[in-house]
Amino acid sequence: MDRQLIKKTRSLCPACLREIDAELYLAGGKAVIEKKCGEHGAFSEVADTDAGLYLKCSSTKKNRTLHYGLVIPVSYACDLSCRWCYLPERGREFTVDRIKGLIAASPARHIVFSGGEPCLRPELPDLIKHVKSSHPEKRAVLLTNGLKLASSSYASLLKSSGLDYCIFSLNGFRPSTHAAFNGRDLSSEKLRALGNLKKLKIPTILSMTLARGVNEDEFADVLRFGLANLDFIRQLRLRNVSDIGTYGPREPIYMSDLLKTVSAATGFSLDEILRENAVSNRRAGTANYFVMNIFNILKRRSRAAAHPRFSFWKDVYRRAGASGALRMAFEPDRQPEERTTFEIEIFSWPTAGNIDLDEVRKFPISHVTNGGEALPFWEALFRNDRDRKLAAMKPAAEPA
Ligand code: SF4
Ligand SMILES: [Zn+2]
Repeated sequence: MDRQLIKKTRSLCPACLREIDAELYLAGGKAVIEKKCGEHGAFSEVADTDAGLYLKCSSTKKNRTLHYGLVIPVSYACDLSCRWCYLPERGREFTVDRIKGLIAASPARHIVFSGGEPCLRPELPDLIKHVKSSHPEKRAVLLTNGLKLASSSYASLLKSSGLDYCIFSLNGFRPSTHAAFNGRDLSSEKLRALGNLKKLKIPTILSMTLARGVNEDEFADVLRFGLANLDFIRQLRLRNVSDIGTYGPREPIYMSDLLKTVSAATGFSLDEILRENAVSNRRAGTANYFVMNIFNILKRRSRAAAHPRFSFWKDVYRRAGASGALRMAFEPDRQPEERTTFEIEIFSWPTAGNIDLDEVRKFPISHVTNGGEALPFWEALFRNDRDRKLAAMKPAAEPA
């Protein structure tokens, strides 16, 4: 079989999660990563089943040039026990002073309060107020499963504390999808919470995780819901399950699969999508991240039509309905940040087997590890997993 070396990089040993040298190849139409751990031997893992698309998504950037966001787990408690959870530790907490220290030390503009479930941290409203009063240049963001937001008084409290926007996990609408991810049907709580966010006009990003054979067919429904609610939903974030935290065996979903899912649901060709990513992706240069603005693609498309303006608005109306189209048409005087928009972001989560550390280290969002260190997002999560593995391997202490 033909093999073509793409680059040398660093990766992880899937057995012990230590950092090791690796090489990325094109072989048999796939992108493949090969590496050898001194203790656990050689590994060969598929990085993507579509080498052509993989190469088109890869970045030309050499280094991280931007610090966009910092994700801080402010609560290690959770009101759910999901099948796939990337932060399964419970029963510990950073002190409020430690959290404030992490915020002050970070160059990132977007401070994302996460968990576990951050709404279970009693001091969350005060932490939001702290960001707004002590770091007015930063944004206070909530990454949540949304259950607590089903209470309108709690959602109002976060809004009045200064919450800038919310990242809300929504993996689909079918009760069976909720049951597969979260162990029970959350439909009514999620819809009540989304209703509160809409009423309070809290800008919201929907975050959808895709698991093969569970909810791939629901992406189009979640997209439709987002476009029908442009008054508060600004973005739909799509990601795949990986093998981080409690993630058990799963059928892999690669970046090329995610791109094809988006293409099928939007009716945009892969070329249109790739072109938009090249234009709008100022935030990250990594093969694991992708962003596209739906309305930019419609604008570009309409230029080829006989009546470009008519063609653009017809398409907006078809996708976002009359309320979305009217909303967009009557706000040309607003600041760009406040104008109606809709992006699709794709996060292709690596596995321990196929992670390309040189790529993920360019990603501009950091995550605080359980040890309190801010590292590039996926590197932090694998560091937690490595520490957990090492702790499990330690011999139990002798009784006194
Ligand atoms: S995935 Fe999120 S909501 Fe689910 S158990 Fe883990 S922390 Fe809680
Ligand atoms: Zn090893």
